[in-house]
Amino acid sequence: MAGTLVMKFGGTSVGNAGAMAQAAQIVKDARAEWPRVVVVTSAISGATNLLLDSATRAARGDLSTLVEVETLLLNNHEAIINAQVSDPARQAQLKQEIARMISNFGSLCRAMGVLGEASPRALDAVASLGERMSVRILAGVIESIGVAARAVDSTEFIITNTTFQNAHPDFDATTIKTRAVLNPLLDESIVPVTTGFIGATPDGAVTTLGRGGSDYSAGIIGAVLPADDVWIWTDVDGVMTADPRMVPEARTLPEISYSEVAELAYYGAKVLHPKTVRPVVDEGIGLRICNTFNPTHPGTRLVPNLKTNGKTSKEHVVKAVTAIRKQRMITIEGRGMLGVPGVAARAFGAVASTGTSVPLITQASSEQSICFAVPSESAAPVLSALERAFAAELEDNDIDRVWATEDVSIITVVGAGMRHTPGVSGRVFSQLGDHSVNVLAIAQGSSEVSISMVVESQDTEAAVRSLHELIVK
Ligand code: ADP
Ligand code: ASP
Ligand code: MG
Repeated sequence: MAGTLVMKFGGTSVGNAGAMAQAAQIVKDARAEWPRVVVVTSAISGATNLLLDSATRAARGDLSTLVEVETLLLNNHEAIINAQVSDPARQAQLKQEIARMISNFGSLCRAMGVLGEASPRALDAVASLGERMSVRILAGVIESIGVAARAVDSTEFIITNTTFQNAHPDFDATTIKTRAVLNPLLDESIVPVTTGFIGATPDGAVTTLGRGGSDYSAGIIGAVLPADDVWIWTDVDGVMTADPRMVPEARTLPEISYSEVAELAYYGAKVLHPKTVRPVVDEGIGLRICNTFNPTHPGTRLVPNLKTNGKTSKEHVVKAVTAIRKQRMITIEGRGMLGVPGVAARAFGAVASTGTSVPLITQASSEQSICFAVPSESAAPVLSALERAFAAELEDNDIDRVWATEDVSIITVVGAGMRHTPGVSGRVFSQLGDHSVNVLAIAQGSSEVSISMVVESQDTEAAVRSLHELIVK
């Protein structure tokens, strides 16, 4: 097949010597079919968490675990080099590079300790080290099995704005640079092995695209090259009817539409970063999710949005169910709100000023309350911002109170056929009722391919498992 393939490996897919060897073999096999292969990889599993935890501890003045973490990171990476890189000179060189990065990590943490502060920019510098280590090793392992490969830091070509920790790519600049950096390697039949998750500002400061963002990196690179296909290699057999960790009987969905998967990802299915889909769909590029540990399984193919014509079979109405935990519902209520102009606009303006995104807004039956979800850790700043924004109305009792619930979960059922099938929400709610799950709030996704419900946190599993029965039935 003539064409360009982008393959992304997640953290577990490169998490130890065996996994890394498996990933390298997958690259070799793909290279036999595709003349141009670009590899994008995450940090080895757990590395990003270790790096970021150490940095936040350091900023609190706690350096007590730093040396231990440095040793752990060094050992984990060296173990892979020892097991899978055959050439001794190459081994030594890789070990030196890893040691340099870990020492860089130590210095950054110690500096944060002195400053007593971890800025988003400094956190990105630390977080980026996981991917910068893994690409070098993966390139070495691929070379060891006879495929020409070269580690490339995506800071050279993914150009972003300065929103550290959640940076947005500048697609024009990224297109030019990505082609300039990757095409010469591809033209020489070298496999570029590049960092997921990270980019750089036009001034060269390292940024990250948000946690789990390596999938997005693969989508961006696929879109700008452009590639024919993007394959996301992970640790499960594709996109499943539910998270198999919560629902052991979950099944792989051989196909799912772009809008369905976008909704699933947005509402918590970690298998694909929610931003991945957009650049790929826009360019009409194929997307597939597959299992590094079961590579002959076809996994899941993303397909164009289904044009349902009312003939959807009953089985396929609800396709998948997912949950996001640790959310709080914020309510603004008061009878006087009816007369207050622009309450909703001002409320969401105040929320936006805290940098919080709102996953769900419920439709109140009257204008006497506004209710929406925010991640639990954002509840306190959001409440303060709202109290400031509505100080006058609270004073005049036009607004009675602004308050947050305890932690709740958002449960979402996804399926494009739902909109043409009467009675789906009835079935969803009676299923929850039959399992004694109390629904605190409801929202229908704007795309009409999903219905979300807010439930108490202790009901999360019961809600997901019971709704999953609607799919299997
Ligand atoms: P990677 O490191 O490869 O990016 P992630 O841990 O980010 O992998 O995502 C894969 C995980 O997503 C799976 O191990 C699974 O537990 C979880 N997951 C959640 N919802 C789903 C779903 N609907 N289908 C498949 N996996 C899911
Ligand atoms: N290593 C990054 C993270 O843990 C990015 C990724 O794995 O996709 O968030
Ligand atoms: Mg992931």
